[in-house]
Amino acid sequence: MTALVSGGSRGIGRAVVLRLAQDGHDVSFCYRSRQDAAEELAKEAAEAGTRVLAVRCDVADPADVREWYTRTEAELGPVDAVVTSAGITRDRPLVLMGQDDWDGVLRTNLDGVYHVCRSAAFSMSKRRTGVIVNLSSVAGIHGNTGQANYAASKAGIIGFTKSLARELGPRGVRANVVAPGLIETDMVGGMPQAARERQLKSVPLGRLGRAQEVADLVSFLVSDRAAYITGSVVEIHGGGVF
Ligand code: NDP
Repeated sequence: MTALVSGGSRGIGRAVVLRLAQDGHDVSFCYRSRQDAAEELAKEAAEAGTRVLAVRCDVADPADVREWYTRTEAELGPVDAVVTSAGITRDRPLVLMGQDDWDGVLRTNLDGVYHVCRSAAFSMSKRRTGVIVNLSSVAGIHGNTGQANYAASKAGIIGFTKSLARELGPRGVRANVVAPGLIETDMVGGMPQAARERQLKSVPLGRLGRAQEVADLVSFLVSDRAAYITGSVVEIHGGGVF
């Protein structure tokens, strides 16, 4: 089994790479800039005894994604599972949100998912097997102050993935969304302290989630234990929806 993970060098994607390698998958993951973190992860994941490929690829660039996908199939064989975790934030109130803030977030978060899934859809449909898990966010379901661009990209991922589930289900391919709340990664570390504390107060379990906990959910959705789950949005937020 071969898995392809976007945004694997840090945070949730990193935990997913490790977990899928431990589950026995060969894993190809991409990163945008953090080559040091990617190389370190590739070594750590390979300790599970599977093959691990780290490739620099900007998911917002369709040519980059095509090259990453082709190289993965050439080196590791056909891709059975796709997990898209690459994502960014550029939080501002709408009145201060410039075109660059909008375009940057939409291109990485939503176009990036389209580019990766489009590559996968061709070969998965042909082989009549495969599973896709796209990372959205509670912000894509409920919205969030200062995150109109991010929430729009994450809501887009939900509509996109539900459509894939309908299109590809008859061809044996499943597609689901994981929508996390506050998870302890660099992304949340970059939030203003006051906003972070305000949001944490509304989490009934009283703590941030761990990247490992999201990876465990992704691992389940990728596995055959989830064989009848497609078109679903699975939330993981300690009960907090802000
Ligand atoms: P991090 O900021 O910790 O990591 C982001 C990862 O995405 C890095 O590996 C980064 O690569 C990669 N990346 C960013 N832009 C690109 C790009 N253009 N092309 C390729 N890779 C890219 O984020 P998280 O792990 O926290 O988030 C992972 C996903 O989960 C995101 O989609 C996020 O929106 C979502 N999410 C996160 C939540 C949280 O609380 N943390 C809550 C809800 C959803 P590099 O290291 O090279 O920069």
